[in-house]
Amino acid sequence: MMAMARGMVIIGAGECGGRAALTLRDLGYDGPVTLVGDEPHPPYERPPLSKDAMTTGDAPQIKTIASDATLAGKSIRHIHSVQAVAIDRAAHGVRLSDGSVLAYDKLLLATGSTPRRLQMPGLGPRCVTLRSFADALAIRAYLRAGSHIAIVGGGFIGLELAAAARKMGAAVTVIEAQPRILMRGVPAEIAEIIHAAHISEGVEILCGDGIASIADDGKAVRVTLAGGREIAADLVVIGIGAVPVTELAAKAGLAIDNGIAVDARLQSSDPDIFAAGDCCSFPLALYGARRVRLEAWRNAQEQGALAARNMLGAGEAHASVPWFWSDQYGLSLQIAGLSDEGSSTVRRDLGDGAFILFHLAEDGRLVAASGIGPGNAVARDIRLAEMLIGKRARPEPEALGSPAVKLKSLLAA
Ligand code: FAD
Ligand code: NAP
Repeated sequence: MMAMARGMVIIGAGECGGRAALTLRDLGYDGPVTLVGDEPHPPYERPPLSKDAMTTGDAPQIKTIASDATLAGKSIRHIHSVQAVAIDRAAHGVRLSDGSVLAYDKLLLATGSTPRRLQMPGLGPRCVTLRSFADALAIRAYLRAGSHIAIVGGGFIGLELAAAARKMGAAVTVIEAQPRILMRGVPAEIAEIIHAAHISEGVEILCGDGIASIADDGKAVRVTLAGGREIAADLVVIGIGAVPVTELAAKAGLAIDNGIAVDARLQSSDPDIFAAGDCCSFPLALYGARRVRLEAWRNAQEQGALAARNMLGAGEAHASVPWFWSDQYGLSLQIAGLSDEGSSTVRRDLGDGAFILFHLAEDGRLVAASGIGPGNAVARDIRLAEMLIGKRARPEPEALGSPAVKLKSLLAA
């Protein structure tokens, strides 16, 4: 009786934490559920922040996952604008930055990830990152004709924001240290199409050059590249990756391994503490229990729900295929599976310039599929590919490459 009265505590009111709280209630759990977040908002979606929120209406709007009214209606206590600062594992308590202590039966850490910092002197208030709604508000104010945005990092944040900035009429320069954009995880053939789309929309992309210095002289932020070129910008957005938020877990003595280390049931090295979403690394069954950390929206949703089920004792192992998407201009990129598990690729053309690359392992197993095309052109086939990947299928390469052969028929086989 006493134990149940403590209830479930979730740290991090983002995509994963919000979904976990809602799932606990959907499953009929009627004990206390407390969601603690250090942002002032109810849980909200981050993907629009680099896309629609930058271009729609007069100012970014929050797209909530669960409004205050929904949370209240489900008796989910949301403590906002407060950080969890310490976990007392022996006492089953979490101390918050306002001095209060929350007792828990089961604790979920859904602390997400945070932008990697550029380690360099001279970064002033006009050198920013994009993670939160507050960041989006600050950046949006600069997206207008006549302003110049320099973006450090040719990854997803950088490129999606470049597309949005162009739509708002700003000049954009993207600086990528690697020889090409989207070097990690996106095949070169697809990155080339995205690169070409940005060039035709007027974005300047500089690859293979590092940053020598950044200085704000009051008139402009001056970015000097290792090769000597100087770019004068009104705003510099740093999009050089994200790092998992693990300090709270590490201080509590939980195992850390590129994120809070959890097992396939999302249980940390303490059986009463779970971790899920961007902040955790876990063994991915589909790829020989290779330990991965996924920074993707659907993973955060699915793991939030899985953690909730397992906090209630389901003992269910993670069994999903990784998947994410990116929208830039009219193009949509979707990748299912882990493409670096493949050793060869087969291309299937879908018409209208859309295509999918199927990634096959040495033994012929389909391990990933990367697709690009206008609008929703690749969505259906990527969904079918995802099912084939989940089944560990070994389809004939000729069949994968032939648009005449329906992927659905391969699934039935
Ligand atoms: P988060 O959403 O980061 O939530 C974690 C929350 O915990 C944060 O609010 C954080 O402030 C809070 N927190 C951390 N520590 C504490 C503490 N000690 N106490 C209290 N609160 C704490 N993915 C895609 O697949 N497709 C996309 O198109 C896409 N677009 C994106 C665009 C942007 C701009 C960003 C930033 C991300 C995008 N993503 C996209 C990634 C996706 O949004 C993330 O994978 C997802 O938000 C991860 O959810 P999470 O709950 O694990 O972490
Ligand atoms: P990212 O996709 O990992 O891209 C970062 C890019 O910056 C990489 O190409 C990286 O190259 C490069 N880089 C690293 N250090 C650099 C330096 N010093 N100078 C120049 N370039 C450098 O990360 P992100 O775009 O910053 O996104 C941050 C988070 O938001 C991630 O969690 C991401 O998943 C999420 N997000 C996702 C989407 C989506 O899925 N559609 C959209 C927006 C944001 P290396 O590979 O060499 O490190």
